[in-house]
Amino acid sequence: MKVCVIGGAGYIGSHAVLELVKDGHDVVVIDNLSTGTMDAVDEKARFYLGDITDEIKLREIFTEETKLGHFDAVMHFAAKIVVPESVSHPLEYYHNNVEGVRIMLKTMVNQGIKNVIFSSTAAVYGDVKKDVCTEEDELKPINPYGESKLASERMIHWVAQAYDMNYCIFRYFNVAGAHESLKIGLKRDNLTHIIPITVQTALKLRDSMVVFGDDYLTPDGTCIRDYIHVADLAFAHVLGMKYIVNGNKSATINLGSSTGYSVKQVIDEVSLHLPVNFSIGPRRPGDPAKLIASSDRAKELLGWIPKRTLKDIILTDLNFRRKHEIR
Ligand code: UDP
Repeated sequence: MKVCVIGGAGYIGSHAVLELVKDGHDVVVIDNLSTGTMDAVDEKARFYLGDITDEIKLREIFTEETKLGHFDAVMHFAAKIVVPESVSHPLEYYHNNVEGVRIMLKTMVNQGIKNVIFSSTAAVYGDVKKDVCTEEDELKPINPYGESKLASERMIHWVAQAYDMNYCIFRYFNVAGAHESLKIGLKRDNLTHIIPITVQTALKLRDSMVVFGDDYLTPDGTCIRDYIHVADLAFAHVLGMKYIVNGNKSATINLGSSTGYSVKQVIDEVSLHLPVNFSIGPRRPGDPAKLIASSDRAKELLGWIPKRTLKDIILTDLNFRRKHEIR
């Protein structure tokens, strides 16, 4: 199949490109390189520098590429994803994440491209009160990032209905880890996620870390999350693409492992490799105590089951950071 990956130079996009190439697809990458890097893009993919909000540029690239062959699908990874930044700069999030999706869909409609695979997030569920989250749960985002993704999900739904398109929307839980080749991984500055922060602390790339609260109603008092290896997540996109291109009904699907680990368990796991200097601090506002995906639908519709565990996530992130000395 021929597929365009918008945001294919970023952390998750570059892993998806790799999985697509491995599966024998013809891959075109469009990326503005705001957080991604050229060296993350597999050499078998054709790369175009372009911003998803630049309608003229997007049309140009699609017109050019369509001369070589019609696109079967478009995958979208070109989003801004930092929650606190979305709170301080909501207009940027609506512009990039929502307007960008509108322009992408308009381009697809004009080019007659029928299938879209979209990266969404568990943040669309908001402040979850249930332990295990299913796709049917209430959607109540609590920050502009989650709102921007939910607005895009809904736009995709209505556009697909109007123009006879198909979609596969994936709601990611806590994505982490690096590719086993150690060529690609999470490189961004000012990381806020627990796994890279714990690994950086273990590698002495930061002095210490803070556990945000140990008084939650969980067995060890720290928050529980569902961690999923980026390569497993990326592979789900290949399955999702084949699923809709082969004529199945559009679907919205959680991507998680159905297993939860606490912040302390993450620290313990990293500590098996290197000591971690941490202290206990106050709770971080907006953190639910426990967030675990029901991944029944991914298994049922796509036959997708994650292969890697928390151990693999931590080991690949550790080896990636060790190799590249990434802060
Ligand atoms: N966390 C922490 N210290 C940190 C970063 C995160 O204790 O320096 C906790 C955070 O409060 C949450 C869990 O780790 O309970 C996962 O947070 P992360 O930001 O990785 O993902 P989120 O689930 O918030 O998207």
